[in-house]
Amino acid sequence: MTQPVNGKFEMPALPYAAADLAPVLSAETIEFHYGKHLQTYLNNLNAALPGSAFEGKSLEDIVKTADGGVFNNAGQFLNHYMYFMQFKAPSAGNIPTGKIAEAIVREFGSFEKFQEEFQAKGAGLFGSGWVWLSADASGKLVITQEGNAQNPLTKGLKPLLTFDVWEHAYYIDYRNRRPDYLKGLWQIVDWNIVNNRLGA
Ligand code: MN
Repeated sequence: MTQPVNGKFEMPALPYAAADLAPVLSAETIEFHYGKHLQTYLNNLNAALPGSAFEGKSLEDIVKTADGGVFNNAGQFLNHYMYFMQFKAPSAGNIPTGKIAEAIVREFGSFEKFQEEFQAKGAGLFGSGWVWLSADASGKLVITQEGNAQNPLTKGLKPLLTFDVWEHAYYIDYRNRRPDYLKGLWQIVDWNIVNNRLGA
């Protein structure tokens, strides 16, 4: 999905059905957020590629080097790709496993302290954007706020986990209650995916 096929990027297939993330995220939210918002970023990106300097490049390369409309649509396609691929059906008491669990305790003291900081940075981001957990070059974990279409790749970080805080991500299910949406997402994080991104 992050490499073009015949000059175009393709919609990633979701690893779950639209209704499977309820009640954390409703089928209606998935139908709009994945089915319409992500599709539009993808269509806009694909429309901008032919004849440009970015034709045939990987999505990550485009995000690292583009600006303007190409950056915005490539960034939003990559951000949403990572967001939707990291979820699974909800379970209460869903907690990190493996290498990422060890790294979170080492860097933040406990999973609960990490959750508090991650949620606070997500709730405190003014306007539209994303809160990210990433690893730096030395493997240290960092939480960053990224506005609009930004991705930690542009800072030399390895992105591991992201919560979308654009209003379109939560308004159908949570209206203005962004903190409740952020708190709910922990139930659907697939920590195996996060471990794969870490390279554990
Ligand atoms: Mn979004």
